[in-house]
Amino acid sequence: LVSRKKHPENTVVDLKGVMMGDGQQRLVMGPCAVESYEQVLTVAKALKERGIKLLRGGAFKPRTSPYDFQGLGLEGLKILKQVADELDMVVISEIVNPSDIETAVEYLDVIQIGARNMQNFELLKAAGAVDKPVLLKRGLSATIQEFIHAAEYIVAKGNSNLMLCERGIRTYETATRNTLDISAVPILKQETHLPVLVDVTHSTGRRDLLLPTAKAALAIGADAVMAEVHPDPAVALSDSAQQMDIPQFNKFIDDLQASGLYK
Ligand code: PEP
Ligand code: MN
Repeated sequence: LVSRKKHPENTVVDLKGVMMGDGQQRLVMGPCAVESYEQVLTVAKALKERGIKLLRGGAFKPRTSPYDFQGLGLEGLKILKQVADELDMVVISEIVNPSDIETAVEYLDVIQIGARNMQNFELLKAAGAVDKPVLLKRGLSATIQEFIHAAEYIVAKGNSNLMLCERGIRTYETATRNTLDISAVPILKQETHLPVLVDVTHSTGRRDLLLPTAKAALAIGADAVMAEVHPDPAVALSDSAQQMDIPQFNKFIDDLQASGLYK
């Protein structure tokens, strides 16, 4: 069902009026984790000023260590919805448990399935059974073929509003947190008809690499770039090393626009 051979035209996913996959390249930004109403509002206002409507933020955080901040849960989704309602934005947030989907769809606009859950087949099936766009991230060590099979699980349940996100894979290289597999973008676009995003924050794990990798993603034809922004990354409860603060975010947008790769 996701194969380009069976369905040659691009799938365009409508995110409350923001089209994904229509040829215009977009940005999905916001904090790693929702920490408070003020924190999300500060970031969202900065995004809105630069014309970005796609607001990401984690409420249910799938952390590697059980002792790390696990997210605000439903409370976090409520904060995202409140801010999105006030500023007319679109909420993208990760769900980790199939039983949370029913409640979550009241608050979010896009269900994100994270790298650690790419092969959580019950979660894929549950996301495939609801009428909400889904953003599926590539697993930490998943091949492109495994990624495509995971996507197929969602569409096979009836939900064709699906987007794929390359977020780096595990290799022997230690200079970056993961290795951004940039060639996955044209391969996924050849093999499937789905929009393809590139997450530059989780792939690199390095703030200094966000701009060059975002440029590469746009140049190679990604439908959108995802990156994290926090009012004060030094005190962020997660991903402190790679989130941009607001001035860095504005510089990031300025530099992308100056490069001619982003309008
Ligand atoms: C995220 O986007 O918040 C996240 C946890 O990313 P990933 O699943 O790609 O690690
Ligand atoms: Mn993060």
